[in-house]
Amino acid sequence: MFARRTLHQAVKANNAFRATAAVQKQLMPSRIIAQRLYSAATATPAPLDASKIQINPSKNLKPLQENSKLVFGKTFSDNMLIVEWEAGKGWGTPQISEYGKIHLEPSAVVFHYSFECFEGMKAYKDKQGRIRLFRPDMNMKRFSRSAQRIALPGFEQEELIKCIEQLLKVDERWIPNERGYSLYLRPTMIGTQESLGVGASNKAMIFVIASPVGPYFPTGFAAVNLLATTERVRAWPGGTGDAKVGGNYAPCIKPQLDANKQGFQQNLWLFGEDHQVTEVGTMNCFMFWTNEQGEKELVTPELDGQILPGVTRDSILTLARQWGEFKVTERRFTMHDVAKASKEGRIHEMFGAGTACIVCPIKNINYDGQDLKIPLDPSDTTSQAGPLTKRLNNAILDIQYGEVEGPAGWSVLVK
Ligand SMILES: *Cc1c(COP(=O)(O)O)cnc(C)c1O
Repeated sequence: MFARRTLHQAVKANNAFRATAAVQKQLMPSRIIAQRLYSAATATPAPLDASKIQINPSKNLKPLQENSKLVFGKTFSDNMLIVEWEAGKGWGTPQISEYGKIHLEPSAVVFHYSFECFEGMKAYKDKQGRIRLFRPDMNMKRFSRSAQRIALPGFEQEELIKCIEQLLKVDERWIPNERGYSLYLRPTMIGTQESLGVGASNKAMIFVIASPVGPYFPTGFAAVNLLATTERVRAWPGGTGDAKVGGNYAPCIKPQLDANKQGFQQNLWLFGEDHQVTEVGTMNCFMFWTNEQGEKELVTPELDGQILPGVTRDSILTLARQWGEFKVTERRFTMHDVAKASKEGRIHEMFGAGTACIVCPIKNINYDGQDLKIPLDPSDTTSQAGPLTKRLNNAILDIQYGEVEGPAGWSVLVK
């Protein structure tokens, strides 16, 4: 009741403010308007500025984990990066300090209305011991877009990369130096305004934490068995499926647990009456097949607003197009297409794609109570991944670890 009254009062106050502002605007002489515009212009909110960074590294260095013992997202490095923002003032001083708890009031909007978005990216050590990032500009662009989708502030993307590079230098010993191992980075933005009013947050915080990780498949690929899910949807037209906002993820866990209970590792998310294929768990979905026209084609759903624009997805499309050996298409396809192609033996491989695993081979899809077997490697019955899946995985690893040059700007050296 109290919260409701507060919300009601907030709406009323906001309406009253708008009405007054509108009247004032009508009555205000143009000279005063000009003055106000001028003073607003002089008080430009501060940009995110990496040159202001303050670094107070942790003095309690934690013991490193053995590479072979790493569990995804369980161990964190010694330090973290924090930058705070306030409406009107802009971005504050970026700070690197000891990894630890953050202090927030229970009224902070992140806890009530899911003002949260995040990124997932990795830092790698190459054979010369240099630190590398993979297409960080793509992550920063998506991070800024996700933030603005939930009315959180945008930021200077290059500057945040520079701050992250500083964190990597401070926490360099946490970057494993074995191929397949890396330091997973989790840039996160939250709304921190202390208010139950439903509106844009006037305060925000970016934090970046780092976690050493091993290969997603430590003992070689393990192809997954999917449940094509029709009872629940992950994303819908006009929703937030194309933004990496926290609100997209919690609702997908129950369907995932239900799938697990029936013996499936992941949900294959569908959409619409015609059961369009959208994503696999939290990965983009690819199918390599011979299409209805008899052409070999790598196909993935187009970015129609419901698909998360994956960096791995884009990298796979770019590489496959460069190879020029088969058709590469972004378009809708349905479970009807998959089932028909499966029956006619036209599917060669299917896989999920994302930063954590790069590629994740699919061996089976249960659709409408029927198992559709998806081929792995026809030349090796023991193999858990198809030849194209393996080739894409290696091509991307080679670039990430600086063993192959790759397209300009993909592998970024941290100096
Ligand atoms: C993060 C994510 C992906 C993969 O994106 P990458 O940039 O390749 O890691 C795909 N789908 C969903 C829903 C995601 O959250």
